[in-house]
Amino acid sequence: VLTGLVSSIQRFCLHDGPGIRTTLFLKGCPLRCFWCHNPECLSAQPQVQVFPERCLGCGACVAACDHGARTRGPAGPVYRRDQCQVCGHCITECFAGALEMVGRRMTVGQVMDELLRDRAFYRGLGGITLSGGEPLMQVDFSRAVLAAGRDEGLHTALETSAHCLWEDLECLLPLVDLLMVDLKHADPEKHRAVAGVTNKRILENLQRLAATDIPLLLRTPVIPTVNDTPEEVGAIADLVKGMRENRLQRGAEPPRLELLPFHRLASDKYRGLGLTNKSSSLRTPPPEALHLLVDEARKRGIEVECK
Ligand code: SF4
Ligand code: SF4
Repeated sequence: VLTGLVSSIQRFCLHDGPGIRTTLFLKGCPLRCFWCHNPECLSAQPQVQVFPERCLGCGACVAACDHGARTRGPAGPVYRRDQCQVCGHCITECFAGALEMVGRRMTVGQVMDELLRDRAFYRGLGGITLSGGEPLMQVDFSRAVLAAGRDEGLHTALETSAHCLWEDLECLLPLVDLLMVDLKHADPEKHRAVAGVTNKRILENLQRLAATDIPLLLRTPVIPTVNDTPEEVGAIADLVKGMRENRLQRGAEPPRLELLPFHRLASDKYRGLGLTNKSSSLRTPPPEALHLLVDEARKRGIEVECK
């Protein structure tokens, strides 16, 4: 049976496409953006997430662990990620919710059961969104969920970095009503420095997408020190402008650009996963700086939103 590794299913999302949406977050991502807002989706494996502030100190997790990964320390239980076999026994025993498993193997039917619970809220405008992580890393599962959503008459959106094989992306397009491509930087080397891979494949895929009719929204997270200058946002807007011209010549719907200001909501997730948060010193850009970036992008005659 086909299964996917699901990080979470979030209900009543307002920023993952039109209307009210239910978003399926899939685990695994080929990029390593240092400010990632969803660090629990980076690894393609299940992980134990630790919330020490919820711990009551009962020691049940220590007794449950046969691998020496959960031991007693002077200030409460200590978790040794390098010893952990991710068996989940400690999680079953912890009634305080201080330990959680990130990553559930689910069938398409199980995912659809959860997504369809919210159908009444979609009201013709909303629907389901596949995000992550990178849904293209689980392309067969993503395709099956999108197809099931279509069969149910739901609006389907897909959020991707487009750092993937074109053939994989292409095969999903007939099942997608809105494609959201996250573009972090126009320059290949800076992209590599901040996201771990160059944007060569992403830019190639964007050119191919420009030649299709798929409704397309480019999304750029505005990250201080990464891409928050008018020149950097302008270079991304230039790319969108080129795609717009391609599409208008053919009478197709032009792509839109959305700027998403950095926020620090992910700090607790980094801590709970034992990951270093390299963006902890960054601040959300002030509204006036964002207005300037939006104005710069709009000079190209493209449609720009900022939320
Ligand atoms: S998941 Fe298993 S191995 Fe890891 S700490 Fe818990 S009980 Fe121990
Ligand atoms: S079982 Fe939960 S509450 Fe009890 S010591 Fe372990 S983490 Fe803390």
